Order: sequence, then structure tokens, then C-alpha cells
Amino acid sequence: MSEQSTPKSLHRGDCGAVVEVGPVRFGDGSYPVIAGPCSVESDEQVFEAARIVAEGGASMLRGGAFKPRTSPYSFQGLGAEGLRLLAEAGRRSGLPTVTEVLEPDQVELVAAHADMLQLGARNMYNSPLLRAVGRSQKPVLLKRGPAATIEEWLLAAEFVLAEGNERVVLCERGIRTFETETRNTLDISAVPVVKALTHLPVIVDPSHASGRRDLIAPLGLAGRAGGADGMMVEVHPDPSQALSDGPQQLDAAGFQDLMHRLGVLTVRDDIDRVDREILGLISRRLGYSVEVGLNKAARGMPLYSSRRERELLDTLAAEAEQWSIDESWVREIFELILTHSRQAQRRALANGRPAGEPAAANS
Ligand code: PEP
Ligand code: MN
Repeated sequence: MSEQSTPKSLHRGDCGAVVEVGPVRFGDGSYPVIAGPCSVESDEQVFEAARIVAEGGASMLRGGAFKPRTSPYSFQGLGAEGLRLLAEAGRRSGLPTVTEVLEPDQVELVAAHADMLQLGARNMYNSPLLRAVGRSQKPVLLKRGPAATIEEWLLAAEFVLAEGNERVVLCERGIRTFETETRNTLDISAVPVVKALTHLPVIVDPSHASGRRDLIAPLGLAGRAGGADGMMVEVHPDPSQALSDGPQQLDAAGFQDLMHRLGVLTVRDDIDRVDREILGLISRRLGYSVEVGLNKAARGMPLYSSRRERELLDTLAAEAEQWSIDESWVREIFELILTHSRQAQRRALANGRPAGEPAAANS
């Protein structure tokens, strides 16, 4: 980089840059996961992929509309229609989107549909395209060329930065080595090397690095351990039917497993557990109400006491604040529970449950 007078990618001080794409932050110590199909193939496919990755905890949705294929006879992508579908899938799932731009002339169109522009491995040396994405001022995901040195990769980033676009995230997606067991070799050492050289965030892409879905989780975990600022992974509702890169795409279960291994689902798991506990508690409460209802009926007492229900709601509403819950929500929730309790009591009476069951606490 000696020819450059003032390289903009080199470290400034000891803290890295944070690149924001909507609410997603690369470089703040989090590990955002960009996920989605290799190619946008149809509305059904990309909407379902978006649902899977959003539910699994992905931070961003990916999907290729203009595909840089090794062979001109392979599927080349849906083009502008693919961009439209990806944007719609992003809106439906609430995820910001990233997609590849292949030519300088496409930058405006792609920038109008996506939240981040991907500059693919095959185009890393394409300086007119680098300059064009730089001028767009959109966040850029800059993939490393399969045969590029780290210095060349950072110089590619310079082309974007030199246009005044500072929002560059680097992506290590595997380099070409003598090894044939994997499609490329994820250069894991590039992550800490790049982090030492530049302030720009760097993520890893185990799908394109390995070409094998069984290696995505171990390489994604390795990336995080090495200090990467996130990862990209290909996810398809049915990888066996994918029009590109089938063997390196995860299905829904595979993606959930990956996110579990990354620990991303922990909060979601907690929510699921609490929801099940709430169900169990509601069921217990209905059981008690039924017992009380039968008991009252056996003694010829009316089932419903508006005074008792009012008192109950007032007591719970008074306690709402101490649980940091809005008082009106507490009333709403318990009014619903009381309504269903009464229905359960009536059903039990109509079914003629035998009298003489043990009396429970008053409802
Ligand atoms: C892609 O991410 O869709 C892609 C083609 O990747 P790469 O440029 O790394 O081959
Ligand atoms: Mn792909």
C-alpha cells in the first residue's frame, strides 16, 4: 500500500468502525447473521426463505437477483424481478436486505431496492464497479476475490472509501488453494490480520468458502472465535431444488441448528419456555374455577359474582406497576381469563360432572 498517500482503510486509533444497515450494526462486538438463498428463484421461495431466517434470528436477508455464474449456461438470476421480490420479502420479514450488483449501470437500480450492495468475489478487482458503489453512498459488502491477497482486498476497499463512502464491510469468502475437499479454503487467519490492519468490520461466509453445508456451523463458530463481526450463510426452503449452490445451503432445521450453536436462539428459547409456563398456569386456573363452579352449583349458589370479579381485577391492577406491566393490559388479560373461566364452568356443569368434588379456592 506504499503508493497510497493516505489509505483510508488503515486503522485510525484503536477502535474499529461500526457500519450500520438499518438497525443492524457490524463492528460493535455483536455477530449479526446475514442469511437467505443463493438466488431469488420465485416469490414463494424467497418469502419462505425470509420467514425461515427471520424466525431463526437472522439480522439481514440475502438473495441474488443478478448472479455472477462461473458458466454462462447456468441460471443467471431473475434480474429486476428478483430485486423486487427480495425487497418485498425484506418488508414482510422486517429484515434489511443485501444483494449483489454486477455492473456499474445497475448500481442505481439495485440501490433503490436493497439496503446494502454486495460486491462479489469475481468483481473485487473491478474498479469502475467499486467506484460506482462508492458513489452510491449505500453500505457495501465487499467480498474478497478467491485469489486476492489481503493487501489487494484492502486496496479494493480503498476505491469505495475514496468516493467518500465509509460504510464498507469486508467479507472473507474463501480463497483458492490446492485443497479439493472444499470449494475454497476459508482463510480464517485473514480475520485477525485484517482487523489489525483496518478499522473496517469483517465477516465470514462459510457457504461460499466451503461449498458444504456440514461445514457452515464449524466455520461460522471459528469466524466468531477469530474476531469476525458477523457471518453470511445461504439458506433455502428446499436446497435439493435450488437453482444455484444447493450443496452449501441450509434448510430450515439446519439454520435453526446453526443459530442454536451460535447461541442466537437463547432468548427465543426463553420466550418459548415462558409461553409454555403461561399455558400451564392458565390450565391450572381453569381447573380451579371449574371446581369452584361445581361446588357453588351443588350448594345452589350463583356462579357469577360481579363484585368478586371487580375486586379481583382491582387487586391485580393495583399490583401491575410492581411487575412493570401496564394496568390496562392486566385488566384486559384477566377479563379474558375470567370470561373463559366462566365458559369452562358452564361446560363442566352441562357435562354433568359428579358433585362432591373437593372444593378449591374461591375464584
Ligand atoms: C454470493 O454471495 O451470492 C456469491 C456469488 O458469492 P461470491 O461472490 O463470494 O462467490
Ligand atoms: Mn451462492
